[in-house]
Amino acid sequence: MIDIHAHILPGADDGAQTLTESMELIMQAKKEGITDIIATSHADNPHYDVTKNVVLEKIELLNIEMKRNNLSINIHSGQEIRIGQSTIEKLKNGELLTLANSKYILIELPTGGIPAYSVQIIQDILKLGKVPIIAHPERNRAIAENPNRLLKLINHGALAQITAGSLAGHFGKTIQKQSLQLVDANLVHTYGSDVHNTKTRPFLFDSGLRYLEKYKRLDAVDIFLENNARIVENGEVIILEPKELEKPKWWKIFA
Ligand code: FE
Repeated sequence: MIDIHAHILPGADDGAQTLTESMELIMQAKKEGITDIIATSHADNPHYDVTKNVVLEKIELLNIEMKRNNLSINIHSGQEIRIGQSTIEKLKNGELLTLANSKYILIELPTGGIPAYSVQIIQDILKLGKVPIIAHPERNRAIAENPNRLLKLINHGALAQITAGSLAGHFGKTIQKQSLQLVDANLVHTYGSDVHNTKTRPFLFDSGLRYLEKYKRLDAVDIFLENNARIVENGEVIILEPKELEKPKWWKIFA
């Protein structure tokens, strides 16, 4: 299994702080049956901006440490890119990392909302022959208020990645329930842990998949894992026709 979203690089951002912590995460990943991890440190985030070269250097460091400890897991390069005015310029200049050198890039919206320029950026990314994947839409407040805001971005050609912990209930019942709604509306295409540490933000990779299995969303499990594999292979991902979601009840009341 492949995890396409993880903060495992040592001392890069708010993920693993030391090489020891990175190694603990890798051991946890192995226990969960993960064979490949795309290291997606924060880039252009107001708090963290881990550059391409730093990501590549730290992956090298981790590879050496794994070899020393007789541990093996495939680490691929990537970044979780907060979109902004400089995203397109940086992408054109080759300053940003795609997921495992594929055409797919992991983008992050601010937690509070969807900036007005989001659609334009999505379109510009697509014009460059790259495919934007929106990280954890289920944790964005504007999407929580009205999930059809995500539908709009998907209709413009973006894809979305759901976080394992959201489905596992790590972020509460509301996010868990809404995550399932996004899955059912075909608004999610890929699956990632967004792991930061072993204690408060663990992988929960298996728990999230088990939740989907418990509620008989077996097709979703298959598609997510297949799409994750296709991203690493730079293949075409499976996309099901997205559906409009019923607006939340408060919307009906005030409409
Ligand atoms: Fe993240």
